[in-house]
Amino acid sequence: MASQTQRPALSSSSISQEENASDIFSSTDSKPIPHETIWFEDGSIVLATDVHLYRIHKSVLSKNSVVFRDMFDLPTIGERGETGGAVLIAEEWEGLPLVKMVGDSDEDVFHLLMAMYEREYHQINKPTTLPKILSLLALSTKYDVPAIRREVIQHLEIYYPTRPKKWSKQYDTPLFDEMHDTPKDFKFQLLAAALLFDVKRILPMLFYECAIEPWDAIFESSSLLDAENYRRIVMGRERLASAVYKFGKIVLRPHEQCQSDVCSRTRMELFVRWLDFNEYTQHIHPLDACADGLHGLGQAEDLAKLRQSCVNKTPHSLSYFECIVWDALPDVFRLDEWEILEEEVA
Ligand SMILES: [Zn+2]
Repeated sequence: MASQTQRPALSSSSISQEENASDIFSSTDSKPIPHETIWFEDGSIVLATDVHLYRIHKSVLSKNSVVFRDMFDLPTIGERGETGGAVLIAEEWEGLPLVKMVGDSDEDVFHLLMAMYEREYHQINKPTTLPKILSLLALSTKYDVPAIRREVIQHLEIYYPTRPKKWSKQYDTPLFDEMHDTPKDFKFQLLAAALLFDVKRILPMLFYECAIEPWDAIFESSSLLDAENYRRIVMGRERLASAVYKFGKIVLRPHEQCQSDVCSRTRMELFVRWLDFNEYTQHIHPLDACADGLHGLGQAEDLAKLRQSCVNKTPHSLSYFECIVWDALPDVFRLDEWEILEEEVA
């Protein structure tokens, strides 16, 4: 193998907007340049994207990624070793082995390496960004980086949980950093990524959150999903709408006569208004309806007409309804049962 300094012979000519005139390969501006931060002088391997070179440590890469570990374990790296899209080539960069990250965007590779090298780059108790989440999920899956994949999934699972107790309408810590503009269709992007990278356990809640978006948002996001999954959203939305009628019925019990005529009549009237409200005014969705409880069903002066014994039944009815919705959620979107979705190892 040649030991003299060589420029990596990469074919792409794409240039990152981050780059500036300090390109050390300024004579050929289509070549990737050393990254300004992920460049360790004691690094033992160079990863190359179309845009940047990253000088890092083979041992760190091996320890984190099963795919890279397998690649480095190949008996010879003379000609080329190729695993899962990354190509280790005989070309060298100043005596170091060079790995072409074929098919990976520079941004994806950057986020992956940052997550490997910086302890606090992505943590489940801190807001993150959509590009970070999507990049980490994509490459931790592609290169089999179990610790990072698991952490990203755990992070998403806080907001798209498998179990009702953990879900809340409002979170103290938002998923995304408000300093960054998060695209409006982020839920659909997350859903598309969860489907693509096989993160089954968060699918029911992601489908739910997408299905309760306004129709125009659902239409605009149709290109992100294939026909089958788009259909799950549309059909699931229909089923959720009918669940909301059941919510009113279970909580208000319009068909039950209690000892008070006023209470009985009020419950019937509230139920009729609940149906009208949902049909003509705005859609309330099952889990939001549960979170709002009885207060979501009527004005205070109407609710005051209910007998205490009937009001006392509400918390029980709410949790009963919530259980039904949660149990049925995968089926609403024609997914596997919870037990199967949950058992999947992150
Ligand atoms: Zn009553």
